[in-house]
Amino acid sequence: MERPNAWKTYNEAQLAELEAISKKYRAYLDNGKTERECVTETVAIAEANGYTNLNDAIKTGTPLQPGAKVYVNCMGKAIMLFHLGKAPLTEGINIVGAHIDSPRIDIKQNPFYEDTDFAYADTHYYGGIKKYQWVARALALHGVVAKKDGTVVDVVIGEDADDPVVGISDLLIHLSAEQMGKKASEVITGEGLDIMLAGRPLEGEEKEPVKAMLLSILKEKYDIEEEDMLSAEIEVVPADKARDYGLDRSMILGYGHDDRVCSFASLEAILSLTETPDYTCCCLLADKEEIGSVGATGMQAKYFENAMAELLNLTSPVYSELNLRRALAACRMLSCDVSAGFDPLYAGAFEKKNAAILGRGVCYNKFTGRGGKGGSNDANAEYIGRLRKIMDDNNICWQTAELGKVDQGGGGTIAYICALYGMEVIDSGVAVLSMHAPLEVISKADLYEAVKAYTAFMKNA
Ligand code: MN
Ligand code: MN
Repeated sequence: MERPNAWKTYNEAQLAELEAISKKYRAYLDNGKTERECVTETVAIAEANGYTNLNDAIKTGTPLQPGAKVYVNCMGKAIMLFHLGKAPLTEGINIVGAHIDSPRIDIKQNPFYEDTDFAYADTHYYGGIKKYQWVARALALHGVVAKKDGTVVDVVIGEDADDPVVGISDLLIHLSAEQMGKKASEVITGEGLDIMLAGRPLEGEEKEPVKAMLLSILKEKYDIEEEDMLSAEIEVVPADKARDYGLDRSMILGYGHDDRVCSFASLEAILSLTETPDYTCCCLLADKEEIGSVGATGMQAKYFENAMAELLNLTSPVYSELNLRRALAACRMLSCDVSAGFDPLYAGAFEKKNAAILGRGVCYNKFTGRGGKGGSNDANAEYIGRLRKIMDDNNICWQTAELGKVDQGGGGTIAYICALYGMEVIDSGVAVLSMHAPLEVISKADLYEAVKAYTAFMKNA
């Protein structure tokens, strides 16, 4: 039952294709470090590939024909691409869905303070992180500041080579006797994740002169007042670029593989459809997965259902609510999210023969959850049987996986939410090492197999 290593199966042409995809993916990671940036980047890529905004068709009431390519931008933080197929929507569509938010540190609404000649920003972390991993490293600021007059200022600091970076200090080892005796979860506290932003007093300023220096820079460079931070979303992320990893360059080290590697593979898959597919295909990139898929841009919101209703309305002579229910229930979906890659240095956390192994292809997780599959979508055996055939018929390297040993921990994805409509859903993704760390690791082979697998799914499911 052991699955083969994908690298052993490649010829020269495939290796060249794998490298080309990897290069494109590294650029996708570097250009999209936040959900907003991913949507902006995805809209540009979609439009360059002939996709138009569904809102344009809705406004004009223009009917959509098989072959039409439309996208839906949800508040700039989630996005869906639809390539309309030959079959009516009531026969279901093939969905490949992933998420574009990643664990990070967010700046608070009233963030700035001065202490002992330093100016800091207070933060509230987002998603599951080991806080001690985020200190003593180069961090960048990404986000928007929305002003009262309606203008929105884009902020990106720390990405250009000559940009300054910011960070969070750690205690020197020489004075760490007490700190080193603490539990890892208490070494760095949530309130201790404060970002150092400045260290020089503004001339002629008596009260909080370093904070005044910070505010003067924000005013001068971005025309931002301190009060404007009340309506800002600034995310603190690693300043690092994605890099080839390992002397053999077989892997990629980067921020946000969870879940931009699956997002990228899903996007590549739908863009690779050169002919009108049999069934409508959808690439769905959701926000807020890391905090429970909540809010207007999380998977629990109704944007997918609403988009399906709009598509039904523009593809059928008479709109019917019953047909919408039928269309949603008839869908096939891959809920694409990263898997926990087996790590020999932490072998005790895994049950090896059911663990995802880097380089052995795209993963299928029948279930996720914790404590006896709690909170999991549990894919139907019949559906998995059909997928096995699609994967094998298309020469995809794939493996099945489970998130660690029983009762070791757990996690969830967007699968169970989409399953509420009655559609067939299974978790599928790329194995990751150091998941949720500032820099995570994937194998290029698994990225390549994911692109091939998601393409085969869209064409054949
Ligand atoms: Mn994820
Ligand atoms: Mn995650």
